[in-house]
Amino acid sequence: MTVLSAFFKQVIKLWHSPDLALIGQRRERRMRMLASLVLLLVGSFWGIFFSLRGEWGIVMMDLLMILCGLSVFILTLRNRVRLANLLLFGVIILVIVGTTLLMDPHTAAAPRATHLYLLPIAVAALMAFRDERLWLRYGVALLCLGLFIVLASSSWSPTSAYHLPDEVRVSGSWVQSVAAMLMLFALLHILQSDAAERSLLDRDLHAALREQQFVLHYQAQLHSSGKVTGAEVLIRWQHPQRGLVPPAEFIGHAEKTGLIIPIGQWVLEQAFTQLRVWKDDPLYCDISLAVNISQKQFRQASFVTDMLALIETYGIDARRLELELTETLIVHDIDDLMCKMAVLVERGVRFSLDDFGTGFSSLSHLKRLPLNTLKIDRSFVSDLLTDANSQAIVRTVIALAQSMGMTVIAEGVETQAQQQFLLSNGCMQFQGYLFSKPLPLQAFTAFVERQNG
Ligand code: C2E
Ligand code: MG
Ligand code: MG
Repeated sequence: MTVLSAFFKQVIKLWHSPDLALIGQRRERRMRMLASLVLLLVGSFWGIFFSLRGEWGIVMMDLLMILCGLSVFILTLRNRVRLANLLLFGVIILVIVGTTLLMDPHTAAAPRATHLYLLPIAVAALMAFRDERLWLRYGVALLCLGLFIVLASSSWSPTSAYHLPDEVRVSGSWVQSVAAMLMLFALLHILQSDAAERSLLDRDLHAALREQQFVLHYQAQLHSSGKVTGAEVLIRWQHPQRGLVPPAEFIGHAEKTGLIIPIGQWVLEQAFTQLRVWKDDPLYCDISLAVNISQKQFRQASFVTDMLALIETYGIDARRLELELTETLIVHDIDDLMCKMAVLVERGVRFSLDDFGTGFSSLSHLKRLPLNTLKIDRSFVSDLLTDANSQAIVRTVIALAQSMGMTVIAEGVETQAQQQFLLSNGCMQFQGYLFSKPLPLQAFTAFVERQNG
């Protein structure tokens, strides 16, 4: 009973999931849940229908549908989006082609209609694989269209295993045609409103930049002695209607559209302004600020010259600035990356590698780059006390950083037990809710006064 209620709670949570406010994602998840339910229901209905008539070959196909429906539902609950989509589309295409060939042959009296479902499925594939590589996105859609053309232009059927009488199939083909066309229109409508919402988000983000709706929060980074040595600046969007919007809901979109460049520039300017304010204050002059730099921003040809110009204009000590790069950034075009980093390091800027361990950077990359700090990702820290693998990874990262002469900082430290484990393995720098959440400037300075004063 408790398992069932936990299951339904999870379903309801995911259905509404407020944290997934990224445009289109929640809607897509709902559609996948509904599609898996349709597979379950249709499979069960026809399974019973054909098992009563002893058509066991068709019953096997229905069983496949039921199993697939269940798997897609579970994968959706576990957030395995790509696998769920691949399974869903694979089975749906297989079922449509199988049904068309085996049960819906083209005759003079009754034309084929089941293959019409391939049209809405092609549109649905464009939506579902939107964030995948082009070959996958367009490959699935083109496969559907190709199969549609083949089935529409041939009346071939491998067997006469189970053909409904023509008079049933005539009205059936009308129903199938209307249903397929309705699905097509519904999906086109969703695609269109999706695009409209995206451009709305675009427009809102432009307005946010213009009207200064972004704010920075500061999350303290502490030494094992309890002293605040720096802070990571984290952007939030003070939306006039939605309230404080976390970065997960707009940074990804801003990266896709290129808006991350002016947003990132704004963040840097704010950080520089703050460093200048603190420059002559004995309590804050040693505090450094870590700024997240997105791939597009760093790849800009003018990134280095812009940074140097900012350092000159604001007259700050560049050693107070740490740029956080991610592993995805450092695996591409390492030569360009090294050149840019070298110029900035020469000027005093420091670099850290964010979310270390979650990407695919190789040790040879690490060795070649002038990195100052490795940031152990929060996911390893949160599992530290329960997962032996996470413990091994964390120990290895600490040892690696030490052997390469880098500092190591653990992100997402939430409990004293986690801090203790990290300390006993040689990690001396921490960031996490145990010490402080990301705070607005005033609250952060009050925190520094308490800790360092
Ligand atoms: P990140 O750079 O890995 O930032 C750390 C995230 O972990 C922050 O989430 C922070 O609030 C959260 N965090 C820190 N300590 C704890 C903890 O103890 N427990 C838990 N559960 N969470 C903790 P936030 O602020 O939502 O930022 C998410 C991501 O958005 C950042 O991940 C970063 O990749 C991106 N981001 C934030 N600000 C900027 C920015 O100005 N520019 C760019 N390009 N990306 C940004
Ligand atoms: Mg970061
Ligand atoms: Mg991080």
